[in-house]
Amino acid sequence: MLRAEDVYCARPKATSGYLSRYILSGSVERSAEPSWKKVNVNKYLKQLPQIDALLKTEPIAELVSRFSHAETVDALRKTLSGLRDELLCGDRKDLPDFTSDEFGEAIETVIRKGRLPLLKPVINATGIVIHTNLGRAPLAHEAIAAMKDIAAAPSNLEYNLENGGRGNRMSSVEALLCDLTGAEAAHVVNNCAAAVMLGLMGTAMGRKVVVSRGELVEIGGSFRLPDIIQQSGAILREVGTTNKTRAGDYAEAIESDTAVLLKSHTSNFQIIGFTSAPARSELAKLSRQYDVLLVEDLGSGVLRDLSVIGLGSEPVVRDVLSAGVDLVMFSGDKLLGGPQAGILAGRADVIETLRRHPFARAIRIDKLSLAALEATLRLYREPNDPFRQIPVLRMLSEPVESLRQRASTLTAKLSRETDLICRTIDTTAQAGGGALPGQSIASAGVALRSRRHSSEELAKELRTMQRPVIGRIRDNEVILDLRTVQSSELDLIVSQAAMRDT
Ligand SMILES: *Cc1c(COP(=O)(O)O)cnc(C)c1O
Repeated sequence: MLRAEDVYCARPKATSGYLSRYILSGSVERSAEPSWKKVNVNKYLKQLPQIDALLKTEPIAELVSRFSHAETVDALRKTLSGLRDELLCGDRKDLPDFTSDEFGEAIETVIRKGRLPLLKPVINATGIVIHTNLGRAPLAHEAIAAMKDIAAAPSNLEYNLENGGRGNRMSSVEALLCDLTGAEAAHVVNNCAAAVMLGLMGTAMGRKVVVSRGELVEIGGSFRLPDIIQQSGAILREVGTTNKTRAGDYAEAIESDTAVLLKSHTSNFQIIGFTSAPARSELAKLSRQYDVLLVEDLGSGVLRDLSVIGLGSEPVVRDVLSAGVDLVMFSGDKLLGGPQAGILAGRADVIETLRRHPFARAIRIDKLSLAALEATLRLYREPNDPFRQIPVLRMLSEPVESLRQRASTLTAKLSRETDLICRTIDTTAQAGGGALPGQSIASAGVALRSRRHSSEELAKELRTMQRPVIGRIRDNEVILDLRTVQSSELDLIVSQAAMRDT
């Protein structure tokens, strides 16, 4: 039996809270781990005050009057539990003066921190334009304005203003999507994963879906095409090999219960070398011949040919449909540059079936995303210029000379106003977000070094600033890639970096 005095504390610290609870109830065996350490904590733990007693001290009572009882108690609880953990781990030998103004100030800081939103904007200096962990596409001003309007007031979301009857949620975006892609009809859901699921459920449930072995992809976040096909109730029929699949392979696999030939964009990897896949037009011919549907998960939705900005290898939705694909799915927040959304576009009868599918209601798009999507799609039409107005496309198309110029401005300002060691460098950026895999995009950035800290520590300092700056570490330097940093963010980077020095 273990006594509370004989507490053995595990390192790393992260496990200490868990362990200490068990330890104090006396039910943990001593571990043989060499990094464990014996601490007599009873002596210290007894010195931790009760929250009720603290609330009666002057500095804390003053906080209750200025903030709130609940927030103050919360902050005290958090602080005391932090102290308790430190005591248990032997990281702390003496305790603060709980009646002092300094302790009051420390609690105030915790309260103020608790008032800040946990989900907050950051500065993406990674050079990965569509960064899923950083929320993918930043929206165009027009899209943000549209969201605000629709958020603040009731709208005609499903109300027909002409006849006063029920309206169609899709009417605002469907015509735009058809116009931009050449599709007969379109439907929009929550995200592309949901679009793929709905597309398969609505066209192939209980029947076979033929997919090339070279396209059985995992997109990340447990989105694996074979699993999705299974979950949709369809039956996967693999054909071909990892590197080569021919039209004949598809043809041989088609049986009486085959519903769909499915193509999936290999959006986050490349197979290079001895490879081949049939052209879409060949598969389209097959699908007509055997009366099955040709469906394609495009992942990223490209509405304009990106070869005009030197990024040529992503299929354009319009071309895919005109090659004879019956149904395509793509994301709203990848290369399209809009809000999170999953777009289904193609043949009118197919879209109609999907629209009416019971699952469609479970994954329907919300009004704010719909507003942002409509506004983003309008930017693809004259007289707008998507490469200027949509942030994702603007970032991807900014000439490298302009990036170098912005990078050297940032270098100069950081050198002048902070103690960081800075230099302008050439970098390579990426589209990210399952688009243009393996294609690096020439870019420029600033390489930073701290005079006192390691690059890991500096990177942490940068990402824990009020507006976090997320860079990447390379060869002991923190690299800020300018391709993903908006001009309006440069001064904020400098002022925050300067503050951190003082
Ligand atoms: C990204 C991607 C998806 C999933 O899209 P979300 O919008 O993230 O749901 C599906 N398929 C492919 C090929 C993708 O690249």
